[in-house]
Amino acid sequence: MTLKLKNTFTDELPADKNLENSRRQVFNACYSYVGPQKTSNPELIHVSSDLTNTLGLDEGYTKSKAFLNVFSGNMVVEGTTPYAMCYGGHQFGHWAGQLGDGRAINLGEIESNNTSWVLQLKGAGETPYSRSADGLAVLRSSIREYLCSEAMYHLGVPTTRALSLALTGDQVLRDVMYDGNAAYEKGAIVCRVAPSFLRFGNYEIFTARQDVETLKALLNFTIKHHFPHLGQPSKETYISFFNEVMQLTLSMIIHWQRVGFVHGVMNTDNMSILGLTIDYGPYGWLEGFDYGWTPNTTDRQHKRYRYGNQPNIGLWNLYQLANALYPLIEETEPLESILNAYKTDFEIKSLDMMRSKLGLELQLKSDEKLIEDLEDALQLSETDMTIFFRNLANFRKEEDTDNSLKAIEEAFYKPNEISDVVRQTWTNWMKSYKIRLQKENRSDDDRKKQMNTVNPKYVLRNYMAQLAIDDANKGDYHLIDELYQLLKKPYDEQPQNEKWFAKRPEWARHKVGCSMLSCSS
Ligand code: AMP
Ligand code: MG
Repeated sequence: MTLKLKNTFTDELPADKNLENSRRQVFNACYSYVGPQKTSNPELIHVSSDLTNTLGLDEGYTKSKAFLNVFSGNMVVEGTTPYAMCYGGHQFGHWAGQLGDGRAINLGEIESNNTSWVLQLKGAGETPYSRSADGLAVLRSSIREYLCSEAMYHLGVPTTRALSLALTGDQVLRDVMYDGNAAYEKGAIVCRVAPSFLRFGNYEIFTARQDVETLKALLNFTIKHHFPHLGQPSKETYISFFNEVMQLTLSMIIHWQRVGFVHGVMNTDNMSILGLTIDYGPYGWLEGFDYGWTPNTTDRQHKRYRYGNQPNIGLWNLYQLANALYPLIEETEPLESILNAYKTDFEIKSLDMMRSKLGLELQLKSDEKLIEDLEDALQLSETDMTIFFRNLANFRKEEDTDNSLKAIEEAFYKPNEISDVVRQTWTNWMKSYKIRLQKENRSDDDRKKQMNTVNPKYVLRNYMAQLAIDDANKGDYHLIDELYQLLKKPYDEQPQNEKWFAKRPEWARHKVGCSMLSCSS
């Protein structure tokens, strides 16, 4: 087969007239034409068979030289004109001006089953938006993005996907902890796939520059292709659009909270307009349940993007998007009421999500207290989130409370150091939980079945990705495939994979890449 790509984005939206690949401010344009950089010795490490099926790519093609060449940036598909998008963004709470695809190059759109998917190479070389950086990506961060995108998809969390992971054969210089110890690492390219890679920052940049014409063109394009059910462009349509983006963003963040995912860099340039998890950088998974945790060392001081703050930041980012859309709406009231609805909807959805994690079908007022008490208890001593919720499904309504504590103990990182006060708190909570469960009509078995569809057994723990990275740096890619296969069925019992249903090992507690990640990638 040959790859057939369309390009509605470049066909319908204004291009940068300058065709030079030089770093600059780009005005009155949504993108700049730029091709990927040639790589010296590309090698495919992994292809997501699940996604190739979705995209209708046959095996013969994914194993061909043409596939390797296209997805390592060495060959441009005939008749296509790759491009980098122009966007801005608020980074860590401050307007950062023009950012843009500094190392992502969009190849075009593939159509499959009436859905259109943009193919984008990350790490494929410089663009006009590369600013002071090299346009490249290293193997470690590419493995993290590749595995996590696919894992999130299978967890049911809205996300961009990853089609392929390739080595470039080139070396890339990085100072991982920004401490003056730069070293060469293997370069890599991930092909990311999504219906659109548009971010809040794509709209913000035009408003910041008072370029209402391009803003309007981009917004109309977005509605036409991605929110067609909203109808023809009008003020009312723009308001409904903002409401949908609010709902999509909120729903994505509730999913993050459910599975214990911490994005790490929720800047507005990393917020997808489709409510997809995008830009897997210094993200991490909760091990011990802790609202204050962030994996991002760059954010260590203020912890703006900590687990417990993700819902607030989602709202803060939506305020920036509201400001960006304002010139086309010119009324604050409808935007404000949508932003206010985020807060009330969050309370409702968050409560529902926690009820589902606890296996509660009835909606009782007293559940709020039960859930609050649980969140407090979980933070009294380091308690593994994934193991706790998974094991909780084994609780039997008639069980005596001492026994039930035993099941939960597996989630304590230091079971021998649990104080009497903590133990008593847990015993009390278990008693309340038991009383609450007895109000439910469902059998224990049915409850367990439901809980196991929302509480994953397997997530991409930070140390697991690091083990795959360490092996890959030595040229061994088996673990990448093992984790890819494991995380395709995160809610299933997989007896042969029980070793991955385990607490983070002690060696990983303070290891770079496991609990500490920088933005260097
Ligand atoms: P991030 O923090 O990864 O979301 O990136 C913020 C901005 O920096 C985006 O515009 C990226 O495209 C750009 N960027 C990050 N890393 C690089 C790189 N190695 N080369 C060029 N641009 C980069
Ligand atoms: Mg980004």
